[in-house]
Amino acid sequence: MQDLLNILFPKSCIFCQKKGFYVCEDCFSLIDINPFQFCICGKIKGKLKCRDCFSFLDGLFVCSRQNQIIVDKIINNYSKIKELSLVLSLIIITHLFLLKENEFSNFAIYPLLSNKKELKRTGFDKTKEIGKILSQKLKIPLIEEVKNTKRMNVLILDISYNEKMENISKQLKENGVNKVLGLVIKKH
Ligand SMILES: [Zn+2]
Ligand SMILES: [Zn+2]
Repeated sequence: MQDLLNILFPKSCIFCQKKGFYVCEDCFSLIDINPFQFCICGKIKGKLKCRDCFSFLDGLFVCSRQNQIIVDKIINNYSKIKELSLVLSLIIITHLFLLKENEFSNFAIYPLLSNKKELKRTGFDKTKEIGKILSQKLKIPLIEEVKNTKRMNVLILDISYNEKMENISKQLKENGVNKVLGLVIKKH
């Protein structure tokens, strides 16, 4: 079935139109994946949170560097091409790998779900799709509700950093979650 689909509707790179992948290897290599950890306000390198970080999160992983047309185009096309979830997951996993940050055994991943209008438009939940892949690759459970956290730390996932992430983090903290980290493809 997959082969037939590929023959009838061949995949091609959204940037260079090369056949085979939605983002080919050459174009993927042009993505500037962030090799560093910065505090949430962005002032201090190598720190999760500084004294000036005004946030309910304990830290924020920003997987790509600011203002990249290539990343924005992948995100924009993701509404139409569900399989781009794999490319976006690869950006996240590469960032965590560059940081040597792979110890999430005590964490659950919490994707911030799309609203109903957005779901109707795309037909799938964009953040949840990435969350499912990360849950599998990082070997951590996926949760969809604040009350399901039990005694775990939480990694809140979204495409970019936003107010909802702060609100959920606040609720999780009030529910007794010890550590809440944000994980985003890009900061804004
Ligand atoms: Zn390409
Ligand atoms: Zn800071």
